Amino acid sequence: MVTVMPKIIASEVKELEFRQRTVKGTSLYVTEAVLSNIADHADEGYLDNKEIMGLMMGSAYRDDEGEYVIVTGTATSKLDSNEVSVRFNKESLEQLFGSIDRCRGVIVGWYHSHPGYGCYLSDIDIKTHEGIFRKDIGFAIVVDPADSTIIAFQCVDGEPNKVPMLIMDSD
Ligand SMILES: [Zn+2]
Repeated sequence: MVTVMPKIIASEVKELEFRQRTVKGTSLYVTEAVLSNIADHADEGYLDNKEIMGLMMGSAYRDDEGEYVIVTGTATSKLDSNEVSVRFNKESLEQLFGSIDRCRGVIVGWYHSHPGYGCYLSDIDIKTHEGIFRKDIGFAIVVDPADSTIIAFQCVDGEPNKVPMLIMDSD
């Protein structure tokens, strides 16, 4: 899945700007608008009993604690999906790139839904994640629209760790 992504990430990861984070111990900041986009997308899929997926766009920074990201947008395209799997439609990559271009910043993570079976990263999810993202920059959000749960993860050496997520006002 999404094998075109690593190149995009690699070409865009530069020396990160130094900027102190607002909340100690929190590496993932998401705007309210992004969160409601993701929730709406997941709800839409749920109506058809389908998983959905998209990329999280934003900025990565570094400070004394390490690296952290602020997610300010989402990008997606037509998907091939059913109730247990999802991928970007191969013929719709132009649409995906257009969607990426309309966002500020770089790809800092991805989101997908598990309609009705809970928020976790499957083995395939972990492989997908580690194929795309560096360890410290790259978050996976999983949402279950059946009970409106949403959990963020990071992967360290093949192990998914739940991470706290701070919701910011959209401005
Ligand atoms: Zn999954």
